[in-house]
Amino acid sequence: MGETIFDRIIRREIPADIVFEDEHLIAFRDIAPQAPVHVLFVPKTPIPTLDDLQADQAAIVGRLALAAADYARREGFADDGYRVVMNCNEHGGQTVFQIHLHLLAGAPLGRFGTGVP
Ligand code: AMP
Repeated sequence: MGETIFDRIIRREIPADIVFEDEHLIAFRDIAPQAPVHVLFVPKTPIPTLDDLQADQAAIVGRLALAAADYARREGFADDGYRVVMNCNEHGGQTVFQIHLHLLAGAPLGRFGTGVP
């Protein structure tokens, strides 16, 4: 299974603005933020895409969602709201092949379109 840049962040081989970590996952600010708050929640178990997720790995994604919701509450923007996104494969716009949850917040995000030109 191929290494990703996120593995190197987990091992502290490259710097990242880490906002949360436990034994299961790490969360750090996206290097190219698409909203005032843009944090990535990444499991430490290697899984390239959501399409590779197995039934017995459901808790891994559940933990990402819970960690994102906890972070939003802790940082005080849960009531205003936020968006979580997982991109899968080419048409989903996935560029790093280790599953991750995007947390976007800090401003009204508007309705998202298809992105199809
Ligand atoms: P995706 O396109 O859904 O695979 O998301 C990958 C995200 O990782 C993009 O939003 C990138 O901006 C972000 N990213 C890539 N390299 C880094 C890095 N070194 N530190 C933080 N975020 C990164």
